[in-house]
Amino acid sequence: MEPLLWLLLPVAAASGWLSARYSGRRRATLRDGQNAFSEHCLQGLNYLLSEQSDKAISLLVDLVDVDEDTVETHLVLGSLFRRRGEVDRAIRIHQNIIARPSLSPAQKANALQQLGIDFLKAGLLDRAENIFLKLAETGRNQEHAWRYLASVYEREKEWAKAIHAAVRHQKASDSPQHVRIAHYHCELVEEQVKAGKIEQAESEAKAALAVDPDCIRAYIQTGDILSSRGNFNAAVKSFRKALAKDRHFSPVVLNRLYKTFTKAGTLADFPVFVRKNTDCNTDAAARYFLVRVYKDLGDEQRLHELLYKEMERKEVSPYIVLAYLEMMRENTSGDISASFAALEKTLTSRLGTYMACHCTHCGFESNLIFWQCPGCQHWGTVRPHQNPVEYSWLDSE
Ligand SMILES: [Zn+2]
Repeated sequence: MEPLLWLLLPVAAASGWLSARYSGRRRATLRDGQNAFSEHCLQGLNYLLSEQSDKAISLLVDLVDVDEDTVETHLVLGSLFRRRGEVDRAIRIHQNIIARPSLSPAQKANALQQLGIDFLKAGLLDRAENIFLKLAETGRNQEHAWRYLASVYEREKEWAKAIHAAVRHQKASDSPQHVRIAHYHCELVEEQVKAGKIEQAESEAKAALAVDPDCIRAYIQTGDILSSRGNFNAAVKSFRKALAKDRHFSPVVLNRLYKTFTKAGTLADFPVFVRKNTDCNTDAAARYFLVRVYKDLGDEQRLHELLYKEMERKEVSPYIVLAYLEMMRENTSGDISASFAALEKTLTSRLGTYMACHCTHCGFESNLIFWQCPGCQHWGTVRPHQNPVEYSWLDSE
């Protein structure tokens, strides 16, 4: 659940409960006890809105004593306990509600949903799964049931089940889930590759692209598979599509292209490819790989031209500076050469701790690409910074 919705849940429940109480009051003769009850409700709502959950809980416990049959009161209380981290108490309350024989179908569904969330929060994934499956069977709260089931399967790394749940979530809510579903397929690709089932992996990557034609990860995976099979031309095609989808990922994709051209023995064609498929003026990764290739090819003249030109730029790529320092160290001797070596060492050490990637949803920073953000659990939101000049994660990714 989104953090904000999470906070609103008890308030929303309390509001419903309050309005139910008021409409009941309009229909029935007012009694002193009910007046007091409603005043408590208002006070409880005030506490919730002012985020004084301790006072709200104490008041709700009193209310439960006054009217122990009120399911909604118990639901609010359970949610509050969970919000405070007292998940055991929340579980007991929600289990007690479900055990009541006189529950309406809507009340039962709400209680099941809350109990499932309790189990999920407690890390009891099997029990959460059972409860959300029961909720799904009721035909009520379908959006929540399938969303939480997808979350459970995601944590269990049951990707096929996660795909099924996310598709059902999408149908129940009209909320697009194609990005998430494509990444589930990509997770299956990784599993199949590890198991040596390359054909299945290839078909999962195709499934990912069928769900989300913009899934850059699936293009990269397809390129990796084709490259590992020696099908270099097709691999280059797939990487080129990835490059065209999102230029932010050019360090990741160009690194693979560089390796593919090397394996294919066509590295001499790589500079033309880079200049044709990237904007070398704005893409520091493209220039960085040109430096590497010219060095590999022993093309000293182009290498020197590129390095000197880079030093004249306003924003210089530190990795290209490293190559420049290396060249200067090799072309000098004695104390001057030692000075360049010291500078190389310092820069290398600084680059090792540079956070080159960030999550566009929660701001999480990392020097690695994560397809699912470890901070907010969103898929496909971690990406290299907009103007990446440092690629410390290239080789470790
Ligand atoms: Zn995030």
